[in-house]
Amino acid sequence: MLEASHPTTPLYPPPQGGRETIFTPRFSRKLARVNDSRTLFAALRETADADAAAAMERAVTSGADRDLARINVLTFAAAYGLDEEKTIAAFLHAAKLGIFELAWDVLCPSCRGVLDVTETLQDVHREPYACSLCSRSFEVSLDETVEIVFTVSPRLRKIAAHDPQTLPFWDYYRQVFWSSAVDVSDADLEKLIAEFTLDARVLDPGERATVTIDLPEGWVILFDPVSHFGHYMKVAPERTAEVQELTVVLKGAREPTATTELRSGPLRLTVANRTARRALPVVWTENRKFDELVGKRRPHLTAKRIFTNQTFRDLYRTDTLAVDQGLKIISLTFLFTDLKGSTELYARVGDLVAYELVRHHFLLLNKIVAANGGAVVKTIGDAVMATFPTPARALAAAFAMREAIGSVGVDTRKEDLILKIGIHEGPSLAVMLNDRLDYFGQTVNIAARVQGLAVSHTIFATKQVIEHPQSAALLAKAGLTPEPQSVTLKGVAGEVAVYEIP
Ligand SMILES: [Zn+2]
Repeated sequence: MLEASHPTTPLYPPPQGGRETIFTPRFSRKLARVNDSRTLFAALRETADADAAAAMERAVTSGADRDLARINVLTFAAAYGLDEEKTIAAFLHAAKLGIFELAWDVLCPSCRGVLDVTETLQDVHREPYACSLCSRSFEVSLDETVEIVFTVSPRLRKIAAHDPQTLPFWDYYRQVFWSSAVDVSDADLEKLIAEFTLDARVLDPGERATVTIDLPEGWVILFDPVSHFGHYMKVAPERTAEVQELTVVLKGAREPTATTELRSGPLRLTVANRTARRALPVVWTENRKFDELVGKRRPHLTAKRIFTNQTFRDLYRTDTLAVDQGLKIISLTFLFTDLKGSTELYARVGDLVAYELVRHHFLLLNKIVAANGGAVVKTIGDAVMATFPTPARALAAAFAMREAIGSVGVDTRKEDLILKIGIHEGPSLAVMLNDRLDYFGQTVNIAARVQGLAVSHTIFATKQVIEHPQSAALLAKAGLTPEPQSVTLKGVAGEVAVYEIP
């Protein structure tokens, strides 16, 4: 019966030449694992979305190995027809329970290969990262180049990727080298790769190999994904009949990608592996098929997106970043709210009723922020600071807030609670402040000041928010026409273009 629940990949195929008896240690280990897994998933169902938890349990018990390594949560949600935000939350809960191991990948924005894997974001540095395949360096931004992925814990299910050195050749590229932002799920991947591969081989530590290649003109690269080593060949079109020679040594240390100028024709290429690990060098020619493979992009769960997820903020509160670490975000949307005249409200209805109203308003706002893929960063008095991955999500949340707060007063003592809302989008720095993931920069200051412009039910948003492509559709759907204004804000040089949304 246990075997039947693992139809595609049995955890422990019986050793060749005989069947296992029931009392072997292997069997009891597996039984312990199944029990462990049932307990953990039962715990998960208590905190996470039931559909997401069920899909995860199904994947862990009967999914293929490769589908459990470095899971792209957005792809997972789409495959199982689940709500993205709830699935993200479920994976975070599952990681806390030890069902999955969470990792942060720094990926190259160009080829989307993984350049560094860290257990915590604290190990991501601000100095530029270099990609030897693309021969370029770039600065980390949480918008694109840092992703969060989940791999099943070996405690529940042992998969090949737990020991990458044993992965078959192209599976290493699939499961370890390329990030979850490249769609390499295609069964014909190897056929596609073959169209730009001139040579590919396994080199054990200390081993060397010499191959003869007929070099085509253009750019050719020797690349090893294990040590992340690249060597470019710039091949001139004039053919030579003479055999050219090139020796390349993999030393394991990251070094700048060098270039050798050659001519098209025969090349005797020697590759020596002086690293301590198995190397998987390939010789690739840069052609249309190569671009096609690297161009197979898909949405991935970025650090920025996870930072604006309420569950992430609740579960991973204190240890996200180091105190002196600040990581760049190119675009984040900030929404500030404040209750109008809350002091008068306290005086008018008394502390107890006012307290109930204000508490209710916080609960409503939290719910609306989370439902729109945002997160509350902090509350200051009766004010709320929240972040969203896009201006449109912040706008959608603002509309929902305005409507919900309007009915709070009606439902209770007909006291008018008026919510003043301001929204701005721009770059910022993610930092730790008072043991909390917070944001720093002029964008944050402007968003707070823009909120200060609101005096009634109108929402104030900057030009960056209103003119964002997704915002127009949302405003049209709501039948709202924002009124442009030009204002000066305290502490901000020059005029700021803002819109008042009636
Ligand atoms: Zn790259």
